[in-house]
Amino acid sequence: AKLQKMLGVIRELIKSKGPITVAEYFKLALTHPEHGYYMNKDVFGVKGDFTTSPEISQMFGELIAVWIANEHAESRDPRPLHLVELGPGRGTLASDVTRVATKLPQLRSALSGRLFLLEVSPAMRAIQRRVLLSGRPSDALNSDDTTESSSPTSVNNDNWREFETANGFRASWLDSLEQLSSQADGPCCFLAHEFLDALPVHKLERLPSGEWREVLIDVCSNAGLKYRLSDSPPPSDLLACIRSNETRRHIEVSPMSGDFVDQLARHVTSQGAGFALLADYGYDVANPDELKTDTLRGFRKHRVRDPLLDPGESDLTADVDFDYLKRRIARLGLPGLAVFGPSPQRAFLLQMGIAARLSALMSSSSASSETRRNHLSAARTLLESMGQRFKFLCISGSPGRLLPGCQAPPGFLPETKFT
Ligand code: SAH
Repeated sequence: AKLQKMLGVIRELIKSKGPITVAEYFKLALTHPEHGYYMNKDVFGVKGDFTTSPEISQMFGELIAVWIANEHAESRDPRPLHLVELGPGRGTLASDVTRVATKLPQLRSALSGRLFLLEVSPAMRAIQRRVLLSGRPSDALNSDDTTESSSPTSVNNDNWREFETANGFRASWLDSLEQLSSQADGPCCFLAHEFLDALPVHKLERLPSGEWREVLIDVCSNAGLKYRLSDSPPPSDLLACIRSNETRRHIEVSPMSGDFVDQLARHVTSQGAGFALLADYGYDVANPDELKTDTLRGFRKHRVRDPLLDPGESDLTADVDFDYLKRRIARLGLPGLAVFGPSPQRAFLLQMGIAARLSALMSSSSASSETRRNHLSAARTLLESMGQRFKFLCISGSPGRLLPGCQAPPGFLPETKFT
């Protein structure tokens, strides 16, 4: 059996300092500099562990591109935007959006700023660079296309870190969102697809007495890991995450995802323009059928795994609590901000015209019958199995979206707005 290095590191850590929180475990398993799941390899696609919507079909990114062009036109602010993607994975979404900009002049002028990629993993940065330099999807590139290494020295080299994409965008990475203000002025369009679900969650459990306890992770005698409850009450910042009318006994909270959303909200209000489109799977408390308790899970080779089994070897993920994100934004009390959603992916894509885009692709004279079949089945996957579980949230600082009685952005219902 392959030596489980990350598991060894985590067991040693627990033995020396005691049980760790689920969030600490989650963070180590995904982003430990040496053994973290995202840090060393390409984890996407058929051969990887999971496939995401932008990887399923070009239509996904194309419709988001059209959404951005429309949002900029409706913003009533002529300033061009920087495009900032959080957790770009293989870079497919950024590549598809910027390709549309080469064909749609309104989008090119809306996005005439720079492209910023917030990415923690050197391996992912190298893949994003290859995809964006070539303008081709990762699956279409073979290893011969790697004209340069992604050794730590090249990843840290300024010439490597800033480049011109095949679609004519000046691109570079951010190590944190704080860096944005020193690197670029002006409003931004933020995109985050399956980024928030990769951020650490804490688990909390309610005792019969009504008191909350944090769930921790401890070593067990068989060389594995197990859950145990903390003996003392959770820190106040975690207690502050619990909604006042909470009825569940077991909940997951991600203050870190709230911190990111806070930063996006502050950015759009400080610029008086710009918007963020966040898409992820998660639940809407307005829909009690969706209220989940225990969603932390591993993914390996397209199968769900026990999240404690093989840290660093399988993906870890937890459903996004959109209501918590909205409460975090509301708590900021910032003027000049509108939030729309969560809107199911199915509604978003249908309103954005996926049917028309599909028929254009299917009637293209160059499409083989296999290509046509693939487009159709991709559209069905995006709308059916992923259509309800995946949701879109829009945070907008656009003057055009703040006016009383203004329309919701396409893909969102007016009644999902709060300011
Ligand atoms: N958006 C892509 C990839 C989703 S996977 C898609 O939908 O296909 C999550 C991405 O976020 C990966 O690129 C991962 O390396 C990155 N990531 C995870 N945690 C991060 C963090 N704390 N900071 C920055 N990037 C992170």
